[in-house]
Amino acid sequence: MYEKELAVAIDAVRKASHLCQHIRATLVTDETITKQDRSPVTIADLAGQAVMSRLLHDAFPSDPLVAEEDTGLLREDEHSENCQRVVEQVRRILPTLDDASILAAIDRGDYGGGAAGRFWTMDPIDGTKGYIRGDQYAVALALIESGRVVLGVLGCPHLPQGRMQNVMQRGVLLAARRGGGAVSMTLDEASEATPIQISAADRPDQSILCESVEGTHTAHGRSAQVGELLGVHLPPVRVDSQCKYAIVARGEATTYLRLPARTSTYQEKIWDHAAGAIIVEEAGGRVTDTHGAPLDFSLGHTLSNNVGIAATNGHLHGPVVAALAATL
Ligand code: AMP
Ligand code: MG
Repeated sequence: MYEKELAVAIDAVRKASHLCQHIRATLVTDETITKQDRSPVTIADLAGQAVMSRLLHDAFPSDPLVAEEDTGLLREDEHSENCQRVVEQVRRILPTLDDASILAAIDRGDYGGGAAGRFWTMDPIDGTKGYIRGDQYAVALALIESGRVVLGVLGCPHLPQGRMQNVMQRGVLLAARRGGGAVSMTLDEASEATPIQISAADRPDQSILCESVEGTHTAHGRSAQVGELLGVHLPPVRVDSQCKYAIVARGEATTYLRLPARTSTYQEKIWDHAAGAIIVEEAGGRVTDTHGAPLDFSLGHTLSNNVGIAATNGHLHGPVVAALAATL
C-alpha cells in the first residue's frame, strides 16, 4: 500500500530540502538573515511549497492539499522582487513552469482537511527560527486518509546523520508508511533506506526529554517538573521543528513534550505533527496529547480536540502521561 505515494513524497521532500539549503546558503549572508530580514525564509517557504505541491499534483491530480503558505503577499506590488526570486528558485527544479503555474501550485494548498477521503498536508519549512539561526528545521509532508495519517516524510537538512552530539555529515530524510516501519536515509538520491527504532529505555529515570527552543511554543518550566518527577538528571534537549520527532524515532531521545501554557488558546496545526507522529509510531513509539488521548487529524487544519503533544518510545508513555497529570 502507498508505494507510489511514498516514492513521490520522498522525491518531493528531497527536492524541497535541497532547495531550502541552497537558498539558505546563497541568497543571504548570516548577517542579513539575523537583521530580521525574513525574505529568505519567505522565498524558501514558498518555493518549497510550490515544488512539492506541483510534484504531488503531477502524480496524484485529484488529491487535495493542506499547506501552510499562500501567495497573498507575493501578489502585492511591493513584493514583486520576492515573487521573481521565488519563481526563479522553483524553475531551478521545474524549469518548464511559467509564473502563473508556480503561483497556482502554491495556492492549491488551501484545502480545508477533515475526516472524508484523503489529502496531503505539508509544512515547507517547519522551524523557521531554526532555519534563520542556521540550526535545525524540517521539510514535512504527510498523507491523511479518513482522518488518519497513513504516510509521512521529514527532510531534516541540518540534522547530523549520526547522533546529534557528533559533528559529522548532515542531512537526513526519514519516512514511514502505516504498518511498514520507519526508515532513515540521506538527502542524496542514491541513498539506501535503513530501518530506525526508538530507544529501548524503560526506566523513567533513563528518559531523555526534548522540547522546543521557543518558550512561547511550550512551557519549559512544566517539562522541568515532569523531568524531576521522572527522576531525570539531564535537562531537556532543545531542538526546533519536527526534528524532535526525528530524534525520538531514531532513539536519541525518549520523549518529546509540547506543553501549552495554561493561558494558551493556540491549537496545534496538523502539518506540524502529521509526518513526525507517524514516523515515531512506525519506529515503535507512541504519540498522544498531554492527557494521553490520540491525536485527531480529522478536524480540519488544527488538532482542536487535543492539548499539546507527548511523543515517546512507548515504554515510557505511561509514566510520562502520569507525570504530566501530576503537574496540572
Ligand atoms: P517548534 O520549532 O517545535 O517550536 O515549532 C515551530 C512551530 O510552532 C511553527 O511551525 C508554528 O506553527 C508553531 N507555533 C506557533 N505558535 C505557537 C504556539 N503559541 N504554541 C505552539 N506552537 C506554535
Ligand atoms: Mg511549522
